[in-house]
Amino acid sequence: MGYDSTNIFAKILRGEIPCKKVYEDEFALAFHDIHPKAPVHILLIPKGAYVSFEDFGEKASSQEIAGFFKALSKISKDIEETQKGCRILSNKGINGGQEVPHFHIHLFAGRPLGPMLSS
Ligand code: AMP
Repeated sequence: MGYDSTNIFAKILRGEIPCKKVYEDEFALAFHDIHPKAPVHILLIPKGAYVSFEDFGEKASSQEIAGFFKALSKISKDIEETQKGCRILSNKGINGGQEVPHFHIHLFAGRPLGPMLSS
């Protein structure tokens, strides 16, 4: 599947839609999820056009990949709620429940997060 540049995260990256920004550098942008599923629910997206984690790992440069995961680490370390524990998750495709076709990682924290899958 090719990258669809009309997706909502592409629009956020282009500044066409606002977001509640948490962090930004040359590789990544993090912002609060619009429908949070935990007291802390942050989305981290790469600046480049990648559909999923598979696409990112296959096509992104080593610098982009390192920069992205360094950003994830920095954000998590800077948030007080993650110190008691947190979870990251990345959905891919229909069965994964991916709604937005721009690679993103969810970061959840702020309460006990329960079992890994709901069922
Ligand atoms: P996924 O199902 O993994 O593709 O997750 C997409 C996430 O994007 C969902 O948790 C949505 O609540 C979130 N979302 C959709 N539109 C926006 C937006 N404009 N700003 C912030 N989060 C959004």
